[in-house]
Amino acid sequence: MPAQFIDGKSLAETLRQQVGDRAKRFLSQHGRAPGLTVILVGNNPASEVYVRHKVAACEKASIVSELIRLDASCSTEALLQTIQSLNTNPNVDGILVQLPLPGHIPEKTIIEAISPNKDVDGFHPVNAGALFTGQPCLKPCTPLGVMVMLDHQKTPLRAAEAVVVGASNIVGKPLAMMLLQAGATVTICNSKTQNLEEKTRRADILIAAVGRPGLITAEMVKPGAVVIDVGINRLASGKLVGDVDFENVARVAKAITPVPGGVGPMTIAMLLQNTLDAAESVAHAQSLT
Ligand code: NAD
Repeated sequence: MPAQFIDGKSLAETLRQQVGDRAKRFLSQHGRAPGLTVILVGNNPASEVYVRHKVAACEKASIVSELIRLDASCSTEALLQTIQSLNTNPNVDGILVQLPLPGHIPEKTIIEAISPNKDVDGFHPVNAGALFTGQPCLKPCTPLGVMVMLDHQKTPLRAAEAVVVGASNIVGKPLAMMLLQAGATVTICNSKTQNLEEKTRRADILIAAVGRPGLITAEMVKPGAVVIDVGINRLASGKLVGDVDFENVARVAKAITPVPGGVGPMTIAMLLQNTLDAAESVAHAQSLT
């Protein structure tokens, strides 16, 4: 039986409407809309596209968004000052610095400058540490989107074998942590992993987050597995594909995400959700003082 197609686009649309309803409630309760500020340094073409999508998604969800553009030659100090003023601006609930940054700006310094309460990307070490220790925090959008998709699919996670291929700080590692906390037994693979197929074939839930088209073939997938493809790769033909050989893996898997239309739209929906969560949590804390 061919795999069920996990429609991230339609799920993300539903979630964005829910965020929009929450944002309108927030406006009526607090007299201002939740706000997200995106900082774009330079004009990396892919970043331009991502930022445009993020800002447009905010508008549709009744979140006020501001795009701050800084020149590619901007100094680390200038960027830090911009972040500092946003950290103290009560109308800004979320701050997102679009990565990658120009080579002369250290990403770690910039990520650490964002107030953890406004870190809607969930990359700050305070949020990463809270995730690691199972405390409430802002979580990275892409892994969070994957977890919401699995939940929506009613995929059993408790005692399931989950294999995450890719171990970056923004996708693989936080996702592995979220799966672990949901009760899965998790294997994380990276570029040094030997016998990748032996690991991936164990997976009830297989996540590919590498950035290599065709890495996951049908032979590497256990029949009946749920396969989530986080990868985004642009082929020379211009076609957008993931890391999974979709056509052939779909014959083996129980359910599979497409690229595009799978994890990608969920990432933006989670950014909006994180912005609302950040706004509501600060408002709640203020109501207690
Ligand atoms: P990254 O380059 O930071 O990390 C890639 C990881 O894959 C590393 O841990 C590396 O060790 C591992 N790896 C490389 N080759 C491997 C191999 N042969 N076998 C096993 N592991 C291997 O990338 P990233 O930022 O985590 O992104 C991964 C992919 O996900 C990219 O295609 C990226 O475009 C995509 N992505 C998609 C979204 C989305 O919203 N859908 C968001 C973020 C990233």
